[in-house]
Amino acid sequence: MEREGLDIPIFCQHCEEPICRDVCPVGALSKGSDGVVRIDTERCVGCWSCSISCPYGAISFYDGRFRVCDLCDGDPKCARWCPTGAIQFVEASLADIPRRRVAAESLAKPKIEARAGTMTELKK
Ligand code: SF4
Ligand code: SF4
Ligand code: SF4
Repeated sequence: MEREGLDIPIFCQHCEEPICRDVCPVGALSKGSDGVVRIDTERCVGCWSCSISCPYGAISFYDGRFRVCDLCDGDPKCARWCPTGAIQFVEASLADIPRRRVAAESLAKPKIEARAGTMTELKK
C-alpha cells in the first residue's frame, strides 16, 4: 500500500499537567519531581484511557503493557543513536517548545480525529 506524508518521531512531552495522569482511574501515571511522567505497570488495569487521551499519541501498548517515554533516566538512547543527530536532548528552555508543540499538534490532529472516528464506530 502506498502511503503519503511524513514519518517523524513524536515523543511524550512530559506535560506540565498531563492529561494521561488525570484520566487514569487507578493513579498509575504520575509526574515525578524530575518532571518525568511514568507508568506504574503494577497498578495499571489496561483501560486505555491514557493512550486515547494523550494528544500526542505518546502512550503505546507494546509487549503486554502500556509504555511511555521515561527519558531513559536522563540518557535518551534515541538521541544517542540517531545517526543524523536529528533527535537531541536539550534543556527545555532551549527547545523552542511553543513552535514544536504547534507542529506536533498539527501532525497529531489527523491521528486524534481518526481515533475519535474509531471510538464513534465502536459505540454504535
Ligand atoms: S503521555 Fe501524552 S499527555 Fe501524558 S505527559 Fe506525555 S505527552 Fe503529555
Ligand atoms: S491504561 Fe493503565 S495507566 Fe493508562 S489510564 Fe488505564 S489504568 Fe491508567
Ligand atoms: S529511547 Fe528513551 S528517551 Fe528516547 S523515546 Fe525511548 S524512552 Fe524516551
